[in-house]
Amino acid sequence: MDFSINSQQKEIVDLVKQIVDREIRPRAIDMDRSGKIPDELLQILVSSGVTSMAVPAAYGGPGLGVDTLGLLYEELGRGCAGVATVCAANALASYPVLIAGTEEQKKRFFDSVLSGRMAAFALTEPGAGSDAGAVSCRAEKTEGGYRLTGIKCFITNGPIADQIVVFANTRKTGGIRGLTVFLADSSMEGFSIGKIEDKMGIRASATSELIFDHCFVPEENRIGREGMGFRIAMETLDHSRAVVGAVSVGIAQAALEAAVIYAHQRKQFGVKVASFEMVQQMIADMAMETEAARALVQKACWMQEKEDPQSGVMAAMAKCLASDTAMKVSTTAVQVMGGNGYSKENQAEKYMRDAKVMQIYEGTNQIQRLVIANGVSY
Ligand SMILES: Cc1cc2nc3c(=O)[nH]c(=O)nc-3n(C[C@H](O)[C@H](O)[C@H](O)COP(=O)(O)OP(=O)(O)OC[C@H]3O[C@@H](n4cnc5c(N)ncnc54)[C@H](O)[C@@H]3O)c2cc1C
Repeated sequence: MDFSINSQQKEIVDLVKQIVDREIRPRAIDMDRSGKIPDELLQILVSSGVTSMAVPAAYGGPGLGVDTLGLLYEELGRGCAGVATVCAANALASYPVLIAGTEEQKKRFFDSVLSGRMAAFALTEPGAGSDAGAVSCRAEKTEGGYRLTGIKCFITNGPIADQIVVFANTRKTGGIRGLTVFLADSSMEGFSIGKIEDKMGIRASATSELIFDHCFVPEENRIGREGMGFRIAMETLDHSRAVVGAVSVGIAQAALEAAVIYAHQRKQFGVKVASFEMVQQMIADMAMETEAARALVQKACWMQEKEDPQSGVMAAMAKCLASDTAMKVSTTAVQVMGGNGYSKENQAEKYMRDAKVMQIYEGTNQIQRLVIANGVSY
């Protein structure tokens, strides 16, 4: 395994780093307060290709490898985990299309993402979180297509998405054998946006309910065969978990940087607090843990790029370890900064709030541990 960054990767990472430092970081506190990403920033992200960086070359995108994408999502996470989540949701929604879509569906979906339209992945429901097989949104067969009825909740990009990859059940009796994927459009009759969540963290990313009320979706918008939905969902999450790990490493890195800068400025007892051994220990632990998480995330991305059969388990390890690390490192950053770390004027407390959801979405860390325990055998 080679951890060195080649010149092409460096060029792209530097470009995203510039966008992060110039456009995202200066707006992060305002976005956290307002609870939304400004249109102006979204346009910058669209025009610079950040919202479409996971589009394959065959469909007009940059065709970046997973190892490069991991580095870019870490950078975005360092800038603002909410913004990283907005961009990552486009990639999350693209996996079902890539896994089981027709050429026409892939072309349509990626053309739309490249033109700046946003996407959402709608699996979770009030009664179906960790238990994805319990989806009750119904897809009733009708002439020329299906009528979708049900409520999805906690959907990232819900209020701003044009394309929605939605999981619904074609069987009246429910169960995973009827789970089927559809490509819906927010302009379809019978579709509406429900409650918008007022969240603890990643506030730049909008999260909402999506309501389907006998929403007609034509047959040509079904992705894969009826009943393939559960397999598509699990494969999608295997692919996307390393990205959550990468964003988590970015949060940990941002928290570490903030703590180190502060510790070298703040004086108590006549000296910089960075000179106290107990503060040094906190900083050393933060640095070690962040590097260890980064190494595991990069390994997971590298294995995914090589299509290693164990890459799904490695991605679960990377997501779990990196998000636990982001939570721990950001909490320690608040401690290093004392009262100022607890104030909303600094970003340390934002990193803590942002890190929390990394342990929850795309499969809680308890579910990751189940995947890992079931996936390791010697
Ligand atoms: C900000 C945000 C954005 C999100 N974005 C999306 C999105 O874009 N699309 C989407 O489809 N979903 C999205 N989600 C939903 C997210 O994936 C779910 O919240 C997550 O899968 C957990 O489901 P739940 O919240 O229903 O928790 P539950 O499943 O109710 O879990 C509650 C607790 O029980 C534990 N638990 C559950 N089952 C087990 C088990 N078998 N063994 C051990 N412990 C268990 C969990 O770990 C957790 O601690 C988002 C959530 C949030 C908060």
